[in-house]
Amino acid sequence: MASLALPALAAQAQCDRWQQRVKYTMQVELNDQDHRFSGTTELVYTNNSPDTLREVFFHLYYNAFRPGSEMDVRSRTIADPDERVGSRIAALGPHEVGEQEVIDLRQDGQLCRSVPMGTVLKVLLAKPLLPRKSTTFAYGFKGQVPVQIRRAGRNNAEKVAYSMAQWYPKLAEYDQRGWHAYPYVGREFHGVWGDFDVTLTMDSAYTIAATGVLQNPHEVGHGYPTGKKALKRPTGDRLKWRFVANNVHDFAWAADRDFVHTVDRVPGGPELHFFRKNDPELEPTWKELPGYMVRSFQHMDKHFGKYPWPQYSFVQGGDGGMEYPMLTLITGKRRLGSLVGVSVHESVHSWYYGVLASNEGRFPWMDEGFTEYASSEVMQELFPRAEDPHRSAFEGYGTLVRSGRHEPPSLHADHFITNRGYGATAYSFGEMFVHQLGAVVGEKELRAGLLRYYDVCRFKHPEPIDFERVMEKRSGIELDWYFDEWINTTRTLDYGIRTVLGTDGGTMVELERTEEQLMPVDVAVALRDGTTQHYHIPLSLQRGAKRPDSETFPFEVLAPWQWTDPTYAFRVPVALASIKSITIDPLGRTADMDRSDNTVELPADAAGFARP
Ligand SMILES: [Zn+2]
Repeated sequence: MASLALPALAAQAQCDRWQQRVKYTMQVELNDQDHRFSGTTELVYTNNSPDTLREVFFHLYYNAFRPGSEMDVRSRTIADPDERVGSRIAALGPHEVGEQEVIDLRQDGQLCRSVPMGTVLKVLLAKPLLPRKSTTFAYGFKGQVPVQIRRAGRNNAEKVAYSMAQWYPKLAEYDQRGWHAYPYVGREFHGVWGDFDVTLTMDSAYTIAATGVLQNPHEVGHGYPTGKKALKRPTGDRLKWRFVANNVHDFAWAADRDFVHTVDRVPGGPELHFFRKNDPELEPTWKELPGYMVRSFQHMDKHFGKYPWPQYSFVQGGDGGMEYPMLTLITGKRRLGSLVGVSVHESVHSWYYGVLASNEGRFPWMDEGFTEYASSEVMQELFPRAEDPHRSAFEGYGTLVRSGRHEPPSLHADHFITNRGYGATAYSFGEMFVHQLGAVVGEKELRAGLLRYYDVCRFKHPEPIDFERVMEKRSGIELDWYFDEWINTTRTLDYGIRTVLGTDGGTMVELERTEEQLMPVDVAVALRDGTTQHYHIPLSLQRGAKRPDSETFPFEVLAPWQWTDPTYAFRVPVALASIKSITIDPLGRTADMDRSDNTVELPADAAGFARP
């Protein structure tokens, strides 16, 4: 029976680290006169780590929206401020700032001492939390919703009343790298996996959209009830809305008096909810949006893994587009292409953030890069174009390199020197990195590997090593060099053709590597008879090469390029006179920074080629 046990063990190797668990039960009231809210929380926290914890940390994100906060100062001192923030926080008045406070926090009934630290609260536990034990925190909280500046707030530019993201005291994540009590400086998040049961009370005129599934649709109405059951609203001018979300790592919501709420369904999949302002200008584009989003979810389900929750909501709000579990806040006054584009990107985050919850601060390229990669594929499906759907990622990365603002992609998202450098790295480099891996392992293997990655790392916090190991096992290729050097350095890639010479009935081709970054090399030899021969030169470091059936075209694998050699020569068994051209990376799948030396055209009477 031992032979049966082995594959099961091997299948668990990725993403099988311990992870903490939370269960929030919250009761919250929002007053739309003074924009203040208060609530109570019961939070069951399970310590699955091997460590005894003597303290925990909470995020109090709304405290970022106060003059002098780390977000404020960073925004006023960075070379290229986000124009949504600029110096707006410094100018906020007492009724416009954000505020978040935890009151009377008890651990299993015993009062704990807390130390406020701006957007972070340190809590000294009343008693140590032992490995594999749970404890229950009970506390009140209150705060003020800031005017909308970044991601969350009241009265956004499109007049949505409340965009409630990063709004509740949120327990920080503790994992094998320790605590992640990041201050809220500008970039994104990392949360503890768990379940949320949230009851929101506010003026009954508001329509609420939230993470999770509404538990009492027949008591609230507002477009939620389905079937024949009659609406049974309680009397009074306030309504209670209870939302439950399981297996998520955050909870966001939005509210407006003027939301139009419609529902569609992905066949065999989730309900899609749409919330937009009742504005005739929005109607034509938002009417078309559901059809595109159904197709987007279908494409993602098929090619990247099945969406696991029963519902997803597209909500007008926020300041651009931001992903939350089971929900996105997007600005809605856009032409159709832009509205579909932002909706695709944010909902695709349900895969790369929602399900594969990589630490967005620590590994921003895993969050935005994978999302951009899959979004480009979806957009190609929705709006087919002749050009490579990932081309703009290569262009963005190239612009970054040439700008001199290129920093190692392994940096924490808040620590890039410029916003532009962060953006181009997380989005363009990240997408390029995923796509370029297809040139190493083969396009078919990349796609199969992405599905495998989803299967083994779902509802976990995957790190680069998890994706690397999935792809290594899938392809049989060692990928340390790819993940180490592309992610941790700013080295660039450039290969070129150095010489082409006729030799006893065949042709010798000599290639050279002129920059430090490493990649295997694909070479296409176009013959005068109209056919093309494809060759693949793996790196010695790979200890293997992509398999013959891993690409959509046949190719021949040559001897490995010993990686310390600056040049590499191989023989093509075709006379020089029969060759029309030779091209490195014919599909444009690598970030080769100088393509001028990638192709050699050979006139019929050419005696050969030598780069001057
Ligand atoms: Zn994104």
